[in-house]
Amino acid sequence: MASFTLHGIPVSRGISIGRAHLLTPAVLDVQHYLVPEERIEAEVKRLQDAIAEVHKELQHLWTELPKDAPTELGAFIDVHVLILSDPMISEAPLDIIRSRHYNAEWALVTQIDELSAQFDEIEDSYLRERKADIQQVAERVLKVLLGTAQLKHPIQESLGEEFKPQMIVVAHDISPADMLAFRDGSFSGFVTDVGGQNSHTAIVARSLDIPAAVGMSQASRLIEQDDWVIIDGDAGVVICNPSQLVLEQYRARQALQVKARKKLQKLKKTPAITKDGTAITLLANIELPEDCAGAMEQGAQGVGLFRSEFLFMGRGHHMPSEDEQFEQYKKAVVAMKGRPVVIRTLDIGADKPLDHVEHNALNPALGLRAIRYCLSEPQIFLTQLRAILRASAFGKVRILIPMLAHAFEIDQSLAMIEQAKAQLRDMRVKFDPAIEIGAMIEIPAAALALPMFVKRMDFLSIGTNDLIQYTLAIDRVDYEVAHLYTPLHPAVLQLIAMTISAGKKAGIDVAVCGEMAGDAKLTRLLLGMGLREFSMHPSQLLQVKQEILNSDLEAVTAQTRKIMRSMEPDAIAEALEALQAM
Ligand code: PEP
Ligand code: MG
Repeated sequence: MASFTLHGIPVSRGISIGRAHLLTPAVLDVQHYLVPEERIEAEVKRLQDAIAEVHKELQHLWTELPKDAPTELGAFIDVHVLILSDPMISEAPLDIIRSRHYNAEWALVTQIDELSAQFDEIEDSYLRERKADIQQVAERVLKVLLGTAQLKHPIQESLGEEFKPQMIVVAHDISPADMLAFRDGSFSGFVTDVGGQNSHTAIVARSLDIPAAVGMSQASRLIEQDDWVIIDGDAGVVICNPSQLVLEQYRARQALQVKARKKLQKLKKTPAITKDGTAITLLANIELPEDCAGAMEQGAQGVGLFRSEFLFMGRGHHMPSEDEQFEQYKKAVVAMKGRPVVIRTLDIGADKPLDHVEHNALNPALGLRAIRYCLSEPQIFLTQLRAILRASAFGKVRILIPMLAHAFEIDQSLAMIEQAKAQLRDMRVKFDPAIEIGAMIEIPAAALALPMFVKRMDFLSIGTNDLIQYTLAIDRVDYEVAHLYTPLHPAVLQLIAMTISAGKKAGIDVAVCGEMAGDAKLTRLLLGMGLREFSMHPSQLLQVKQEILNSDLEAVTAQTRKIMRSMEPDAIAEALEALQAM
């Protein structure tokens, strides 16, 4: 097998070595997990039983056919019975379960996908159209399987460390909602054709702490099922079918990284204090309340960003009710044991679409997203606000509003929060009446009109991911312009520094919750700008803490001033290197 190397965008650090598992959009729709050896035959039987059940269903349909039914109807059922009995459906997926350890649904969809591709090549249009019949039959089987689905991925329950599969997902694209399904730890790396460094798919990969590279353009076409793949998540390089020598080199690097990470674990309980004794607050970014355990484990002092929109994604037309949301927010608050939890209101749109909202905007990143959407859907917004307020009765909660730019948006948001409070008071439901409200500073207009914000808000949180996107006019999910996306552009640095100092002057807290906060190469720069609150993925916390422990604020601040005076990228890069070396 020929070895080849692909270059893309590094999004999640570390090295992963494993077998490629190609996922197509259809495959992404069903549950996918690996079945442990001892359960393989049970899984095979689950699929055989489902197929037998569909045989029965079809027979029943036959007998129930009214006498005057058109003959085509009976013929259709016959075709479906034939398809179901064909080895390509009744046997090939069983082989996939046995050889690849896929669960039944995944094995079936994988086989159907392969068949569909073959059908697309057929010249005869009658035969080509039989593809739809095959899909209908598969859907019947999937429906039956759904009834016998395992509630919990078996892999979580019974796989020993030594069986931990090293499977690398290769796909054209994976949506942030689909990424959530990978939280069970079945996969050890991700490679996608599209995406940017701060696309939400990349952000979720980072939160899973799994090596990932995106923007690989042709990866899903060039890499084949079960190929050996190395992901170098630090460099954004993917090596397919590496030589033995290369494989050994990467294994050695991987071992070194594991060792370094283990060493960092010793810092979990160490307070984040600079050399000169200034305490820095380190918070966690989470997508779901379940992430709180990892945040506590890594020593986070609270949650600085709960991306609540993940509760709303991948649910079809069904939005979470007030009670359901309340339970989730409360779960996070309780899990953090008295530490503050900043819950961001629904930041939907652009690369985080809601399933039931039509998205036909030409520029979705500039469209009806985040607070703009919430203010246009007051009932959805009020429901969420009531749920958050109710959770505030169980611990320290703060509300964070994304994508604000206009004074009237701030005022309307605050008025809605008052309205939600009044509704709860009427119902005699408890909440924290002094709950603090903050604004995300992620639009350049906001960073240039800070007095408007500090006057009205209790705290600010800088969303550098969007701030960079909007300042440099670069779509954060578009790999073709990813090389232009940099946090070190002097305009971006100026906007961040201005926000930090405006907050300081006004005596309100300012945090950074964008990806810059978790990048240890930028920790000193942010410290030097005066930042004292960092919010990041729990997996990045200890590395950032290590930087803080080794930093002397006076020296770091002086060197940062030099960086801020420069408008030349080379000079900035050089001064940043000197800052790192101090
Ligand atoms: C940001 O924009 O920096 C941010 C933290 O929010 P998100 O990445 O979810 O847009
Ligand atoms: Mg944002």
